[in-house]
Amino acid sequence: MSEARLNLAVQKSGRLAEGGMSLLKRAGLRFGYGRDALHRRAENMPLDLLLLRDDDIPSFVAGGACDYGIVGENVLYEAQARSERYGGLEVVLRLGFAGCTLKLAAPKDGSVRGVEDLEGRAVATSYPGLTRRYLEERGIIAEIVEMRGSVEVAPRLGIADAICDLVSTGATLEANGLAAFETVLESEAVLIRRRNGRNGPVAEVAATLIQRAEGVIASAQ
Ligand code: ATP
Ligand code: ZN
Repeated sequence: MSEARLNLAVQKSGRLAEGGMSLLKRAGLRFGYGRDALHRRAENMPLDLLLLRDDDIPSFVAGGACDYGIVGENVLYEAQARSERYGGLEVVLRLGFAGCTLKLAAPKDGSVRGVEDLEGRAVATSYPGLTRRYLEERGIIAEIVEMRGSVEVAPRLGIADAICDLVSTGATLEANGLAAFETVLESEAVLIRRRNGRNGPVAEVAATLIQRAEGVIASAQ
């Protein structure tokens, strides 16, 4: 009976996909083919994976199409900062991979050196919700320029005075003559679910999965 199977949303390919699949495999799950390219079926647990763009994972879990999801905190909290639709999502477990930091950065030799210098300036970002909230909480009114990618080129092209972007090693900032001056969010991959999700057999499968994942994470430390 398919209703008794847990639906878990994972990234189709990318940084979260690798870490997520590796965690699930170390937790003892074995996967075969699913009914189409979107699905993969666990062979030894009543669980199906849905392979998605990471940005779509909060919507699938909030809307009930998936019971659980593996996503970056950056994507989860951005969704929650943008819309109340995601208020019912909760973090069940921090997974210890895909670590990165959302940082404010500006040209090294420019006049923006701190958050207070952003008043009346333009900030380019793929995280408008988190960026706006962070600045508002500090009483700064800035123009937010939303970009889907290549945010780091915005200051050089005169589109913005600063950026708010994900940083892991800092090499991209360096290569673009930018220096970070403020941390907006420390992020890692997390397991999420709806606060009022399905009960019964599916909840028992979830409990088993969480327990095994906790074991894997603890043994990796
Ligand atoms: P998709 O096609 O699923 O939308 P994507 O390009 O958004 O893929 P990735 O680049 O694989 O996805 O990043 C997925 C997640 O990995 C990010 O949302 C973030 O949580 C994490 N991450 C870790 N380090 C970095 C980094 N240096 N840059 C971007 N994301 C990072
Ligand atoms: Zn994405």
